[in-house]
Amino acid sequence: MSPSQYPAGGAIMDELDEMYEFPICQSCGMPMETDEVKGTEKDGRRSDDFCVHCYANGTYTKDLTMEEMIRVNIQYLDEWIKSSGIEMTEEEAIEQLREFLPTLKRWQS
Ligand SMILES: [Zn+2]
Repeated sequence: MSPSQYPAGGAIMDELDEMYEFPICQSCGMPMETDEVKGTEKDGRRSDDFCVHCYANGTYTKDLTMEEMIRVNIQYLDEWIKSSGIEMTEEEAIEQLREFLPTLKRWQS
């Protein structure tokens, strides 16, 4: 994806690009820096696609719509702002997520 797709959030997408050295969860967008945060397949293998919050034993842990996933992400906004140093309002974050989540595998069907 190119940052130009995100006219309002180029800086944020740059930050995300830096996180891309880790696989990101294809459901919530969380970078998976260690195997411990990766979800598990039915046979117990770690998934490279989904995190432990979203995926366990080969299935999604929660049956969410994309809008509900945005709400879940917003609950962690303060934490994310602290760790990333990026200031944004809840409205801006929701706008970002509406652009970003559809690029993930879970929301493409
Ligand atoms: Zn996830």
